[in-house]
Amino acid sequence: MNLPKDYNFKESEKKWQKYWEKEKIFSYSHKAKGKLYSIDTPPPTVSGKMHIGHAFSYSHEDFISRYKRMKGCNVWYPFGTDDNGLPTERLIEKIKNVKAREMRRDDFVKLCLQTLKEIRPSFINDWIKLGMSCDFTSVYSTIDDYSRKISQKSFLDLSKKNLVYQEETPVSWCTTCNTAIAQAEFEDRQLTSHFNDVVFKVDNKDIIISTTRPELLPACVAVFVNPNDKRHKNLVGKKAKVPLFNYYVPILTDEKVDMEKGTGIVMCCTFGDFVDVEWWRRYKLPLKVAVTKHGLMSEEAQNYKELTIKKARHQIIEDLEKENLLKEKKQITHVVNVHDKCGTELEILKTKQWYIKILENKKKLIEQGKKTKWHPEFMLKRYINWVENLQWDWCISRQRFFGVPFPIWYCKKCSEVKLAEEKDLPVDPLYNKPKTKCKCGSSEFIPESDVMDTWATSSCTPQIVLDWDKKGKLPMSLRPQAHDIIRTWAFYTIVKSFYHFNKIPWNDIMISGFVTLEGQKMSKSKGNIVDPSVILENYGADALRFWSASAKLGENTDYMEKEVVAGQRTIIKLWNASKFSIMNLKDYTSKKPKKLELIDKWILIKLNKVVKESTEYFESYDYSKNKMEVEKFFWNTFCDNYLEIIKFRLYGTNKEKKLSAQYSLYNALISILKMFAPIMPHITEEIWQLYFKEKEKTKSIHISNWPEYSKKLEDKKAEEIGDKFIEILGKVRQFKASNKVSLKTEINLTLDKKDYSLLKDALEDLKAVVNAREIKQGTFSISL
Ligand SMILES: [Zn+2]
Ligand SMILES: [Zn+2]
Repeated sequence: MNLPKDYNFKESEKKWQKYWEKEKIFSYSHKAKGKLYSIDTPPPTVSGKMHIGHAFSYSHEDFISRYKRMKGCNVWYPFGTDDNGLPTERLIEKIKNVKAREMRRDDFVKLCLQTLKEIRPSFINDWIKLGMSCDFTSVYSTIDDYSRKISQKSFLDLSKKNLVYQEETPVSWCTTCNTAIAQAEFEDRQLTSHFNDVVFKVDNKDIIISTTRPELLPACVAVFVNPNDKRHKNLVGKKAKVPLFNYYVPILTDEKVDMEKGTGIVMCCTFGDFVDVEWWRRYKLPLKVAVTKHGLMSEEAQNYKELTIKKARHQIIEDLEKENLLKEKKQITHVVNVHDKCGTELEILKTKQWYIKILENKKKLIEQGKKTKWHPEFMLKRYINWVENLQWDWCISRQRFFGVPFPIWYCKKCSEVKLAEEKDLPVDPLYNKPKTKCKCGSSEFIPESDVMDTWATSSCTPQIVLDWDKKGKLPMSLRPQAHDIIRTWAFYTIVKSFYHFNKIPWNDIMISGFVTLEGQKMSKSKGNIVDPSVILENYGADALRFWSASAKLGENTDYMEKEVVAGQRTIIKLWNASKFSIMNLKDYTSKKPKKLELIDKWILIKLNKVVKESTEYFESYDYSKNKMEVEKFFWNTFCDNYLEIIKFRLYGTNKEKKLSAQYSLYNALISILKMFAPIMPHITEEIWQLYFKEKEKTKSIHISNWPEYSKKLEDKKAEEIGDKFIEILGKVRQFKASNKVSLKTEINLTLDKKDYSLLKDALEDLKAVVNAREIKQGTFSISL
């Protein structure tokens, strides 16, 4: 059969995606042959559409999964969506025009589940269009019954192991989202602000305190100087009058005060930062709360009550100026912690929260991280740095509405925590009641209304996809993910696996970089967004994947249209080279020739080398080097040289010599297709289906065997002769180019004696491909 004239990616990609689904090519069965290779696929957050960063990093993991499948592994490549957090809450509110807080929580969850059912197929379709080889027959969601059950079971297990606790303590708070947040959700942002030199009075004399947050004056509980600061020795033990609010606070000493900064005198407010928290604890200072959970000034702020923080700051500065209590105002830029979801500057508020213990196990958690193989290796450092620098336990309670509820109640009489029974999970304590009485005999309970941090559930993805204790076992084979969530998703999953099972969650972890545009992070506000659906429409998934394969793992990479175009060119070249080859394989019967011609032997030796390298690269998750090697071999060695050399034998009448060429041609082409298949799954499938499927008796290239490297095929001598052949061919081509004659022009060729005898078995091929009248021996020369 001949290939059609052109390859139409639009038809072809859709066709094979449907075929894979229909034929269950990627469906997992635990009964299937092969070693289990399980992938802890990142569940994307259901929002409108796939973005370019998704297309980029999901291609990377798909390269690996397709390779492993061809390598004979029984690949478990699940797919799920993450939809138990704030973004989903907002999305559903928008689509359904409801207010979550005005509904019963279980009704809202029901509405979410139902809406997700409606919108999920089209969302998931973006991943299918990219050519992902996940098992899309069983898609999980982090809010479905099963995930809620796993997440709550995890909490129960940690409670029983005494690894969670509840405490009323100062915690980072987002006044926009109205919830406590964990250290992992901080984002550093460079912001401009002012250093205000404010006048406090001590014995009617002025002292100057520099602050960026004058609105916290009503929360001032002490003034500090460094005990080694001779300038301020006389102040210690006295009282300072807080400007505008006119009350007195003690002047204390602590070595943490930076003598170089400002005047070396600072105020301690509850709370401006975590040093304030430390001092408040150590010196047993009173608590004065000036900011409410909603980001307004409190009763404590007196005249400024109910103003927003920014307005209060502005007003207080104005009033200080009026009363001549502001000496100077300098503009500065400094790094501030903001909430990664909304960009709000964080406050510190004393509230009651649930925590998972982390700090006491830092060393062990670092050890767990080291047991996993990181690709690229330097990403392990980021993990270690993060764990080493952690300062708080993991705060997992969120004062949000939508999420996985805590499976707990509190006894009305004695306040004891009542845990749900495992067999009753998932529960929503707002609507379900405990089935037994409290230890004290009371059966009246108050439900916990908070929900858990979304990472508390997504850190259980290995349990969710492995069915906790039924399907596979930990560790899974691979976790693929982006580098920005090492501190959250990777870290928390390691924590959970360690606490629950004393195991690492996966053997390998591969970390993708970001997609940038001219070195800049893409964002809606900058207007530099590249939409993957446009690329898919114009160039197809294979070309898009070709671009992603050119990026080194772990590195941020610019989106480059020219690399997508290069992908498209490679697809066309692959089509044309296959078309030519298959046309000339019409009468090929898979019979092995009695003797292989030298150049046919040579191409198989070169191919064998590429197979070896390509396999090694894939084994170390280095798909980009695989792509580079295969691409080079295909364009240069195979197309430019080999195909040109064997043309004359393919067209000729010598049956044995033709068979020799056909044998190598068949084997080289099929291996090239297989090595390209993980990266460009559609074009390779198309060619497979049109020609190789019948010969190879395998219904998809993606479940065919990965080419085997064979030590036996190595032959230094034959390789050297072949290389010499190519070198001479190159010289002749150069000669013809510089003489501006066509490649078909006849020439006279004289070879050095040594080369002549070296190439004696390949002279006929050489003569044909360079179009020589004859080849003489003597001193090397080419002439027209
Ligand atoms: Zn926020
Ligand atoms: Zn009780």
